[in-house]
Amino acid sequence: MTGHFPPPPARGCSDTPVLKERGQHEVFCGLTGIIWLHRKMQDAFFLVVGSRTCAHLLQSAAGVMIFAEPRFATAILEETDLAGMADAQEELDRVVTQLLERRPDIRQLFLVGSCPSEVIKLDLGRAAERMSAQFAPRVRVLNYSGSGIETTFTQGEDACLAAMVPVLPDTDSRELLLVGALPDVVEQQALDLLEAMGIGPVRVLPAQSVEDDYGIGPNTVFALTQPFLSDTHAALTRRGARHIAAPFPFGEEGTTAWLSAVAAEFDVPQDLFESVTAAPRARARKAVSQASEGLRDRSVFFFPDSQLEIPLARFLTRECGMAAVEVGVPFLHRAIMSPDLDLLAEGPTLAEGQDVDKQLARCRAARPDLTVCGLGLANPLEAEGMATKWAIELVFTPVHFYEQAGDLAGLFSRPLRRRGLLKLEAAE
Ligand code: SF4
Repeated sequence: MTGHFPPPPARGCSDTPVLKERGQHEVFCGLTGIIWLHRKMQDAFFLVVGSRTCAHLLQSAAGVMIFAEPRFATAILEETDLAGMADAQEELDRVVTQLLERRPDIRQLFLVGSCPSEVIKLDLGRAAERMSAQFAPRVRVLNYSGSGIETTFTQGEDACLAAMVPVLPDTDSRELLLVGALPDVVEQQALDLLEAMGIGPVRVLPAQSVEDDYGIGPNTVFALTQPFLSDTHAALTRRGARHIAAPFPFGEEGTTAWLSAVAAEFDVPQDLFESVTAAPRARARKAVSQASEGLRDRSVFFFPDSQLEIPLARFLTRECGMAAVEVGVPFLHRAIMSPDLDLLAEGPTLAEGQDVDKQLARCRAARPDLTVCGLGLANPLEAEGMATKWAIELVFTPVHFYEQAGDLAGLFSRPLRRRGLLKLEAAE
């Protein structure tokens, strides 16, 4: 693999002591994942069993509903349910029966748990089993939790995908599984690159439809495209599938390293690998160098939020010339993160979990040029004159693989440019 980025550091962050924090969290809950998952899974419906707060969160995160028949909704638990005065299971049966009678297009129904459903210990697993038996084979009913207690917003996707793994059939076929919900156009770019190298058959989790179901077994190898899929990783491993460990496909280097690990697994000749990747690599390199102009020698501080922090710190330090001050992650899963940690040069504080007040104090003391954090922290920090980037945008924007590498760098350089302009205006 020909490199156009610095050689791997003599000491990466794999052995860096981790600052473990347990305190107040400032993150969105896992229901947020429904916003991108329902677009990806064309015959699925997400029924949140929750409160009016959950319904409001979904509506505001989804923005204006433009389709006549949305593919998510909230079954509201009323006070009588919460007080145990009504049989919530019976009520749920009634709501689901009505929904499935009205919507024959639904082939896969997810009952999504929330804080209120967990508080009253509503057994959605039992409900999903009962409904699966009732509505099979037309509809498959699964459940997972999107509750905000002790979770972060990307865990909703992880919980959803992990819930799908056990119901996939068995197979002995040697197949590659790409795991993670990517925008269709980005997913297609990855599939095209793999196909050009002769790698296949390739399956995707989540698939667009239950009709695209495939098997999992001891000859399945899987590559994660999102770093927050630790429960899905465990569920696939339990089914006998093997993980291809690699840095995540962010930027030119991450994408090349990710593809290279998959290519090695499938014995792709080096000259074929080079010929397939040469042109998109050159495009990515050019786009990153243009978009990252304002990032060189600037410092960045990550609050724990999306679980994308470590691969993004690797991208920003190695491809965009930034210096990382602190890289906070909600959870550190070493089997998944090691390849990125090896490439991230030692120096930044590595923190797991959150104690928001302590972390804010460290951030204010460091005065980084750019702070990557959740919406709740961004406004106060901006008011104090600090440039911020909302972590949630990184999940809603296409940022993976070669063709998006320049856009990824641009997401970080824009807030710095905006702040520079504001300063100029203020000076005039
Ligand atoms: S699941 Fe919990 S954190 Fe999320 S919107 Fe509902 S009540 Fe709020």
